[in-house]
Amino acid sequence: MLGQMMTLPLTISSVLDFAVRFHGKTEVVSKTVEGPIHRYGYADLAARAKQLAQAMGALGIGPGDIVGTLAWNGYRHVELYYGISGIGAVCHTINPRLFAEQISYIVNHAEDRYIFTDITFVPLLEKLADQLTKVQGFVVMTDRAHMPATTLPNVLCYEELLAGRPTTMEWPALDENAAAALCYTSGTTGRPRGVLYSHRSTVLHAMAINFPDAFGLTARDTVLPVVPMFHVNAWGTAYGAPMVGAKLVLPGPHLDGASLVQLMEEEGVTTTAGVPTVWLNLLAHIEETGRKPSRLSKVVIGGSACPPAMMEAFEKLGIQAVHAWGMTELSPLGVINHPTVGTEMLPEEQRKAIALKQGRPLFGIDIKVVDAAGQELPFDGAGFGTLKVRGHWVCDSYFRQERLATHDEPGWFDTGDVATIDANGFMQIVDRSKDVIKSGGEWISSIDLENIAIAHPAVREAAAIARIDPKWGERPIIVVVLKPGATATPQEIRAFYSGKVAKWCEPDEVLVADSLPHTATGKLLKTELRRIYGRG
Ligand code: AMP
Repeated sequence: MLGQMMTLPLTISSVLDFAVRFHGKTEVVSKTVEGPIHRYGYADLAARAKQLAQAMGALGIGPGDIVGTLAWNGYRHVELYYGISGIGAVCHTINPRLFAEQISYIVNHAEDRYIFTDITFVPLLEKLADQLTKVQGFVVMTDRAHMPATTLPNVLCYEELLAGRPTTMEWPALDENAAAALCYTSGTTGRPRGVLYSHRSTVLHAMAINFPDAFGLTARDTVLPVVPMFHVNAWGTAYGAPMVGAKLVLPGPHLDGASLVQLMEEEGVTTTAGVPTVWLNLLAHIEETGRKPSRLSKVVIGGSACPPAMMEAFEKLGIQAVHAWGMTELSPLGVINHPTVGTEMLPEEQRKAIALKQGRPLFGIDIKVVDAAGQELPFDGAGFGTLKVRGHWVCDSYFRQERLATHDEPGWFDTGDVATIDANGFMQIVDRSKDVIKSGGEWISSIDLENIAIAHPAVREAAAIARIDPKWGERPIIVVVLKPGATATPQEIRAFYSGKVAKWCEPDEVLVADSLPHTATGKLLKTELRRIYGRG
């Protein structure tokens, strides 16, 4: 017997329709590429997304077509999220921090029909334009007055493209399983892989990030995603905020500590989200000036492990640091760390240790850890193995790619991360499987070693990598960057490990560098570090 309830497709346009009806005046505030602050309400955003949708039609873009974006977090980019997916086309956010050849590979692989770009990235596209064989034209996301002189072929001005088009239309009815957005993984080895999100997966993920034990956004919140809209859809915030009527603040390219603190203060930001590297800058600025954003109460930290020192620094400021783990393949949120009744009552040391884990799954996501034979390990917080995931917003296969080993076990996705799960369901990432240091048959977590180094008062950033060793196979070494003006010798940092890890896990050598290489999504670029320092 079937239930007798309504079935409405879970489409992205329905999120915007809802925001217009019930949160139409709630603001979307952008620090623009051109400079000034732009502000309008969700109703205005929807009106322009509809103009854009009709402009797409005029350009010959329809259902199933893929449209690329190269843009910062800003209102026009949000209009593209909704305007493109609203007509059944696919919004492909391209990460401008990728290597040029990766960008042209991605654009060609996706067969992007048009690319919408911020002024910032016009020079980048000019260099690549010859190679982008399927792209029919480029739309610069600005008004006529700010249009740059460019050698790009078939260039249009965004504001002119929208001007004069009707601000009203009914969004077409779409299958909730239709593709809506496309992101490529920033794989440090091999080709980037495309993850093709559906309307349904995107809406369910956005509902889940709003859970109280996730980002917990409400109509009283103001959220500023520092995580770029080109990095897994700004972790879903551009969909989650309108769903609950949270004010959305978009920082554009202005991501330094001073700019962020100022924007957060002026707009009353309560919640923000991003990778640890951006928080290093923010914390340094707050430390320097003694001024923190007065309403900021929650910082979601993910993309790389949150070092204990960072969590403590936020706690001291009275800001809740929430650790989260996710992947492009998971839209991205998989697990997030909030205490349970049981863990909240624990003594401070234990509570802090648990808060540093990546967290527990949201409803809609299931996780397990398996050994080398594929057998599931118990939830004991000790046994570690490969982390596998399944759920409503998990990639079932990569876009235009034959099935890979990541999907060998039917119904599960192999994350490539090594993790433990404890009796309370808290998952902890031990390492990326490629980054674990395998010394004499034992595994050493590079994350653990980095966390210790970062706790040293002179160390700003640290990377632990394996160095090839004739006796042990691999041995850990650590490369550190010191805080500006700070001094510490490698010997002092090496001595700092004493008593904090087993003797054989201590790094063989500490090297001091001026900077560390990062991936396009702000993670340490370990392949490069191993190439430079790891050969023994
Ligand atoms: P991406 O697809 O670029 O978002 O990268 C996903 C990968 O980032 C994961 O598989 C993890 O290896 C890593 N990652 C994400 N969040 C965390 C976290 N909180 N702690 C440790 N590693 C993380």
